[in-house]
Amino acid sequence: MLPEKYKAISDEQAILKIRHLKALLGKDVFILGHHYQRDEVIQFADATGDSLGLSQEAAKINSKYIVFCGVKFMAETADIVTADNQKVILPDLAAGCPMADMANEYQIQKAWDEIAQVVADISNVVPVTYVNSAATVKAFCGENGGLTCTSSNAGKVLDWAFNQGKQVFFFPDRYLGTNTAMRLGLKDKEIVLWNREEDFGGLSPEKIKTAKIITWDGYCPVHKRFESANLDLLREKYPDLRVIVHPEVPESLAIQADEIGSTSYIIKVVSEAPDGSIFAVGTEAHLVSRLAKEYPNKRILSLNVPTCMCATMERISPQNLLWILESLAEGKVENQIIVPKNIKEKALIAINSMFELS
Ligand code: SF4
Repeated sequence: MLPEKYKAISDEQAILKIRHLKALLGKDVFILGHHYQRDEVIQFADATGDSLGLSQEAAKINSKYIVFCGVKFMAETADIVTADNQKVILPDLAAGCPMADMANEYQIQKAWDEIAQVVADISNVVPVTYVNSAATVKAFCGENGGLTCTSSNAGKVLDWAFNQGKQVFFFPDRYLGTNTAMRLGLKDKEIVLWNREEDFGGLSPEKIKTAKIITWDGYCPVHKRFESANLDLLREKYPDLRVIVHPEVPESLAIQADEIGSTSYIIKVVSEAPDGSIFAVGTEAHLVSRLAKEYPNKRILSLNVPTCMCATMERISPQNLLWILESLAEGKVENQIIVPKNIKEKALIAINSMFELS
């Protein structure tokens, strides 16, 4: 927990001190920053990215300490893909992800056992977990012939499974699973939703057997709040409007968007658009306002007003970062994220299978 003395430090003071400490610690420390981090923090990132980009980046870093300005599952992934002598640090241990918390390994195992009772051969079902999940859930996939995916490569992963005639059990995000499956041309009846509160997901044996994808009923509370209610108004006001959304938004909105893609994809589309372009963006508020500042010659609007911010990402403050760096300068490691070895090995199988595909 952040020591009391840091709470009295202003953002401005913290920023000055972080600048000094970063220079002092040099190459020993590498700071990774997710796109949803606030500006005061992300300015210190040595690399920025989405979940896929940051896990690929983490695997290449040689620094002794990796400070992950993101949420817990990301820091766990970094610990899994880095060497044993490297230490991964999360500046606030309370920075979790509500979506990741909607599926634990016990719930997934129970559902898996129930699916196995219904289908003819469970080895024809591929468990796929979005990287926004606990290391133990990734380990479950590694142990059962499955893999991880991100919002950037979910299409490739599902395509790979369907091309082998496999069924997919997808968790924890129902919307990423559904939106991706729909974009691959699956019909409504081929996509079923597993209700984690009910035995057999509340589904009949017939539905489980005939589904091409069974999606868990988790969701991102930030992206779920985006609605299509504003769309008509915005389109009327700006006839040239391009609507671009993250695949964690509900499918009722996703089908009305002009484009759908990961945060990296959204950044790419906005940055490459000609001056004068107008976008309504359906993703986290910090990223949308950063894009608006970076591209003043384009009009970047949030699809929702008020905007939707990720409160757990917001927990990483300049004061937290300062505490971590000051501790390192004093030879102390605070908030290290350690994934147990047996979980690490199994989770790595699932992560490496994803890397091979993407
Ligand atoms: S934006 Fe959503 S999925 Fe991402 S960390 Fe926040 S709650 Fe989790």
